[in-house]
Amino acid sequence: MEEKKSCIVCHRTDEEIPIISMTFKGKELGICPQHMPVLIHNPHELVGKLEGAENMDAG
Ligand SMILES: [Zn+2]
Repeated sequence: MEEKKSCIVCHRTDEEIPIISMTFKGKELGICPQHMPVLIHNPHELVGKLEGAENMDAG
């Protein structure tokens, strides 16, 4: 059974909002357009939600 695509931050699914798919560390994950900037600019906010996020912050 395949898991529904959902945003790693707000957990809304692609039934509610467009979900951008990507892979990170070989795992497929999704994020909504609203939280895409968080991933880009504030990846440390994803610590605990996204494994390895603490290493993504380039400063
Ligand atoms: Zn979201």
